Amino acid sequence: MKVRAPSADSRYFEVRELLHGRRLNTICEEARCPNIAECWGRGTATFQILGDTCTRACRYCYVHSGKPDSPPDPLEPLRLAQAAAQMGLRHVVVTSVDRDDVPDRGAGHYAATIRALKKKLPEASIEVLTPDFLGVEDEALRTVLAELPDVFNHNIETVRRLHRRMRGAKASYDKALWLLRRAKEVAGYPVLTKSGIIVGLGETNDEVVETMRDLREHDVDVVTIGQYLQPSSRHATIDRWVHPDEFRWFREQGEALGFGSVFSGPLVRSSYRADEQRHAAETGRGAVAY
Ligand code: SF4
Repeated sequence: MKVRAPSADSRYFEVRELLHGRRLNTICEEARCPNIAECWGRGTATFQILGDTCTRACRYCYVHSGKPDSPPDPLEPLRLAQAAAQMGLRHVVVTSVDRDDVPDRGAGHYAATIRALKKKLPEASIEVLTPDFLGVEDEALRTVLAELPDVFNHNIETVRRLHRRMRGAKASYDKALWLLRRAKEVAGYPVLTKSGIIVGLGETNDEVVETMRDLREHDVDVVTIGQYLQPSSRHATIDRWVHPDEFRWFREQGEALGFGSVFSGPLVRSSYRADEQRHAAETGRGAVAY
């Protein structure tokens, strides 16, 4: 796999300066995403709210894990909305660390962020990629979806057999599925639901299809599938490099299962070209392989 280096004639450096200047975190940097030169070069980024410290420690994830030393920053939603407006985003993707230390698990902060975005950028669509809101799931979903985000994304990440090993005892494969279905029930409007699968963690191709089937059975509209890259020697080792032909096969399987859009390819990430994923699902353009 080859990725581009940041280029001076793209928007990469402008985006970096803007985000750092407003003290905003992005999953692009925190997770060492390989697509950062491309995405920031196009003038897009995925915001990471609720701080830089995650209360979980998934074995594939590079985001710093530990005990957060401060509550959510009440001014972060405003700074984020200002940055999104300055960047001229038409589709804004917001994710976060897990905050199991906060009573509402950060749901109120998501809601405040959506409100700030709608005020500052009323024309933009909004996608939230949320944690599982451990223990307050229903209430948290109501809080977030009351602000009418266009896309509700929650990543299942891996297949049932590997879920606990990769994500720890607090996470649950069935809970992730439940959350995705429940989001549509709670929303009361046609919210698009979306989930992502990482491959190369030890799963089989049949298990990937089984996971896609589970997602479709829970009425999920969009799925992304991408290759795991080991971010450091402390993280899970790469089990296999999935061939581009296999990614194409996943796409065909997903298409046959009826997803509105399937983005499947080595460098595909949940937020990779998220505007196009949404557009593909809404216009019936269907599956795309990168
Ligand atoms: S794929 Fe997502 S996380 Fe990676 S650089 Fe692009 S927007 Fe950021």
